[in-house]
Amino acid sequence: QALALGQNWQVHDAQDDETVDRELSLLGELDEAIANRELDVHYQPKLCLKTNLIASVEALVRWNHPTRGPLRPDLFVPLAERNGRIAGLTLHVLERTISDLHTWKVQGHAMTAAVNLSAKLLNSATFLAELRSLIETSGIAPHVLTFEVTESAAMTNAAEAAAALESFQAMGIAISIDDYGTGQSTLSYLKQLPLDELKIDRSFVQFAHQNRSDGVLVQSTINLAHELGLKVVAEGVEDPECMAFLRAAGCDMIQGYLISKAVPAKALSALLERPVSM
Ligand code: C2E
Ligand code: CA
Ligand code: CA
Ligand code: CA
Repeated sequence: QALALGQNWQVHDAQDDETVDRELSLLGELDEAIANRELDVHYQPKLCLKTNLIASVEALVRWNHPTRGPLRPDLFVPLAERNGRIAGLTLHVLERTISDLHTWKVQGHAMTAAVNLSAKLLNSATFLAELRSLIETSGIAPHVLTFEVTESAAMTNAAEAAAALESFQAMGIAISIDDYGTGQSTLSYLKQLPLDELKIDRSFVQFAHQNRSDGVLVQSTINLAHELGLKVVAEGVEDPECMAFLRAAGCDMIQGYLISKAVPAKALSALLERPVSM
């Protein structure tokens, strides 16, 4: 699984030592963290390969736990999903993202942002209603937002997912299929779902410049996506050689440690002030 090496996030394995008691106490603490707005949001830039500009970010939730230290989202996002807290968590992330987008705009940076959407929220009328009201009260133009949904999430119930994604899209929010290539599903969902963007999973991207079959898969995915009218983002780009491969392959945007890891909103402003020379 996506282990962000070199970062100090605690590793967790669900089958591991986490007892029910610990899970319950962590859940209580998560409730407090959401209520007290202690969860933080970091932003990882996406670099447009055509313009060499950062025009977009992905919002990634962070929990700096008072005693346990920084916790990886892999630990508490599934916990929130299992216990009916994911709508609250996501709305919190959205609120922060909308507010940070506003700050960047005031600073002269017109940015768009993607937020990760759990499968659980594809059939939640409550979430949809709260999303509508958040967008209304914040006054944000919905087209600056993208929802990233994983393939497996979308395929759990394709018809239901399509309907939910259509309501988001009708509001003006763009839809991106996340971790593309890791699901076991057939390609047919690409025409069943209303999509704007496709994100190729890191496991294919990382060695695309070195490994012939990875390279072929990435190239044909880019071609397929473009034929379908979708933008393509490659995630997990760590090497300049990988970026060169993706540029030559016609990829639209890249994201990864080569450009930047996810950083706090203020650090992102600083990043936007200096041009990327790639
Ligand atoms: P994801 O959506 O696939 O996000 C990409 C993950 O890969 C992030 O880990 C990011 O820090 C990491 N990453 C980015 N570039 C590189 C790279 O070049 N190399 C490597 N090795 N890793 C890279 P993170 O932040 O730990 O997030 C893990 C997962 O947690 C995310 O995977 C996403 O599925 C989930 N997640 C994060 N925030 C949220 C949220 O607000 N809501 C929901 N539902 N899920 C979230
Ligand atoms: Ca994502
Ligand atoms: Ca991803
Ligand atoms: Ca991934």
